[in-house]
Amino acid sequence: MSFKTLSSDLARHMPKLRGKMQDNFSLDRITWFRVGGPAQLLFQPADEADLAYFLSSLPGDIPVLPIGLGSNLLVRDGGIEGVVIRLGRGFNDIAILNETDIRVGTAAPDVRVAGAAAEAGISGLSFYRGIPGSIGGAVKMNAGAHGTETCEILKFCQAVNRQGEIVTLPVEELGYSYRHSNIPDDLIVTSAVYQGAEGDSATIRQEMQEVADYRETVQPVKSRTGGSTFKNPPGESAWKLIDEAGCRGINIGKARVSELHCNFLINEGDARAGDLENLGEHVRMKVRENSGILLEWEIKRLGIPENGPGGRRVHPE
Ligand SMILES: Cc1cc2nc3c(=O)[nH]c(=O)nc-3n(C[C@H](O)[C@H](O)[C@H](O)COP(=O)(O)OP(=O)(O)OC[C@H]3O[C@@H](n4cnc5c(N)ncnc54)[C@H](O)[C@@H]3O)c2cc1C
Repeated sequence: MSFKTLSSDLARHMPKLRGKMQDNFSLDRITWFRVGGPAQLLFQPADEADLAYFLSSLPGDIPVLPIGLGSNLLVRDGGIEGVVIRLGRGFNDIAILNETDIRVGTAAPDVRVAGAAAEAGISGLSFYRGIPGSIGGAVKMNAGAHGTETCEILKFCQAVNRQGEIVTLPVEELGYSYRHSNIPDDLIVTSAVYQGAEGDSATIRQEMQEVADYRETVQPVKSRTGGSTFKNPPGESAWKLIDEAGCRGINIGKARVSELHCNFLINEGDARAGDLENLGEHVRMKVRENSGILLEWEIKRLGIPENGPGGRRVHPE
C-alpha cells in the first residue's frame, strides 16, 4: 500500500522550508507496537517557526496529525492519509525557570523531563519516570500514573494551529479529564510549562527509582505494546474485567493479551495492526457479555484499515 507522493509539489510552494519531508514513511518503524502502514508524508520541522511556515502554506484539504513517540498508538495497516508531523531536535529543550517551574519542548521524553526536574530539586514530576512517551503525547492524553495526572502540574502550553498561528493555551482551557483533553487532533503542541514544588533532589530520585522498579514487576515494559489498551471504567479496573471475562493470555495470531498485565496487548512478532485491533474488539465483546460493561479504547487507533471501506477513515473516534 502506498499513497500519491506529496513532497515535491509541497517543496515547490514552500521554498523557505528547512524541515525534512518523507513520502510514504512506514510508521511501523516508530510505533511501540511496531505495526502500522505508511504516513502519506512524514514532516519533521526544524523548529517552531518552520512548523508555522509549513502549516500556513499547506493546502487546507490535506489533513494533519501530530505523533510523539508512538507509545499510545495503533496505526492501522493501510496507513495515514495526509501529513503526519513528528517533532524532534528543535523541540526538546528543557529550561528551569525558577525553584518550581520548568519549560520543556514537547519532543522531550517524559523520562528525561522527570530527570531534569529531579536534578533541579523540583518535585511533582517523578511519575513521568514510568511513562515512555514524549511531553506532546502526555499533554494531549493527560498522561498520569501513581496518583498524579499531567493536568495537575501543567500551567500552560504553546501550540501551532492548522493555520500556522502560534497560540498559548492555559491548562483551564484544555478540557482535561481522565486520559482526555479537548486539544484538537490537528493542533501541534510545541512546548509546555509545568509547576512543581520545591523538593530535595535525592528524595525525588529515590521516588523515581521506586516508580521504575514497580513498573518492571507489573507491566510488560520491554514488549511491543501500546500501554493500557482500555480506560478504567468509573469505579472499576479494566484489567480485572478482562481477567474475569477469561481473556488473559488469549491471542489472534501473534497479537496476544499480556499474561503479566491483561489490559496490555502485545505484538509477539509479526502481528498486523488488524490482528491487534480485532483482538481488542474481541476482548471488549467478551467483557460486555460477562459484566455488561463496554470498555472504551485508551489507545489511539489511527488511519485506514488494510481493506477499509473506501480508505477514508483517518480519525475513527
Ligand atoms: C509500556 C507502556 C506503559 C505506559 N504507561 C502509561 C501510564 O502509566 N500512564 C499513561 O498515562 N500512559 C501510559 N502509557 C501510554 C503512553 O505512554 C502515553 O499516553 C504517552 O503520553 C503517549 O506519548 P507519545 O509521545 O508516545 O504519544 P503518541 O503515542 O505518539 O500519541 C498519542 C496522542 O498524542 C498526540 N500527540 C503526540 N504528540 C503531540 C503533539 N506534539 N501535539 C499534539 N498532540 C500530540 C497524538 O496525536 C496522539 O493522539 C504507556 C505506554 C506503554 C507502551
